Amino acid sequence: MPSIHRLSDLLVNQIAAGEVVDRPASVLKEVLENAVDAGSRAIEVQLEQGGVRRIRVSDDGCGIQQDELALALERHATSKIASLDDLERVGTMGFRGEALAAISAVARTTITSRAEGAGHAWRIDGDSGELTPAALNQGTVVEVADLYYNTPARRKFLKSEGTEYAHCDEMFRRVALARPDVGLQLSHNGRVVHRLPPGEPIRRVGTLMGDDFLEHAREVRAEGSILSLGGFASLPAYSRSSRDAQYFFVNGRYVRDKLLTHAVRQAYTDILHGSRHPAYVLFLELDPAGVDVNVHPAKIEVRFRDSRAVHQFVFHAVSRALAESGAGRALDEPL
Ligand code: ADP
Ligand code: MG
Repeated sequence: MPSIHRLSDLLVNQIAAGEVVDRPASVLKEVLENAVDAGSRAIEVQLEQGGVRRIRVSDDGCGIQQDELALALERHATSKIASLDDLERVGTMGFRGEALAAISAVARTTITSRAEGAGHAWRIDGDSGELTPAALNQGTVVEVADLYYNTPARRKFLKSEGTEYAHCDEMFRRVALARPDVGLQLSHNGRVVHRLPPGEPIRRVGTLMGDDFLEHAREVRAEGSILSLGGFASLPAYSRSSRDAQYFFVNGRYVRDKLLTHAVRQAYTDILHGSRHPAYVLFLELDPAGVDVNVHPAKIEVRFRDSRAVHQFVFHAVSRALAESGAGRALDEPL
């Protein structure tokens, strides 16, 4: 048996990258969420070759101080939580402090940032850790190039440029739906694909889901004492053959959750054939302490403290919205 030894930081981060960074779209998710967490009003994403060659995200957020740039790239270093108490009521998208460490372990990464009040920007090279002065207005530019250049085994799992781009586009849409108040732009290989000015949620939904969806959807709006649900759910006439147009957000975070999907689907039981799927964009808001987002590194799964109440609430809210249109069944008074 070889002796037991500690793994190098680089190897530790490369192993962790397997969980957080499984394709360009997951890099984009992390970097975009950081831009949102920084309080940005405008974010621009540029992709090359499906994000494999390059992902560049620039924002006008709070920026990173020069003396914290190196820390930002370190594992388990974050500005977003400091205690278990913070973790239990976290309001930011990120909090684990591992994304940039993982990304820079498997791609050529640079961060250029100018913090509020700083005279100029600084750029840090993720490989060498070298800091150099740079020019930039307030905000941050994160560039991630040549994903998996140093981990060829992982690179083999990348799909075609078109497929990787499609995943990036989908990731961009999720963030864009969640944050209509932020201006967002996406371009691929130099061509602008989405240009989304900040504005009303309904306009963002119309742009990304199509006006056709809005015309065939009912507004969902339910306020409970501890839960609220808003958004749009399609009428049966707009149903789809796949689940490709289902977006559920919990406190602004896109999630894929069996309980929530089931609750929505149940509201359609009597009005939609089992082989058809509704389209929806729904936003559930609740006290952060009532939901655990720290279930998986990608934070796409959540656990509710009172899952039964959440299920009931969502089911009734969607049922009621559909019933008001005359499309749903008559319901007992909701909770
Ligand atoms: P986390 O988001 O979980 O804190 P990350 O590794 O994604 O961990 O980022 C580490 C830290 O770097 C963040 O906590 C934040 O302070 C800083 N940071 C990253 N991206 C940005 C950005 N676009 N603007 C401002 N600060 C950023
Ligand atoms: Mg982050």
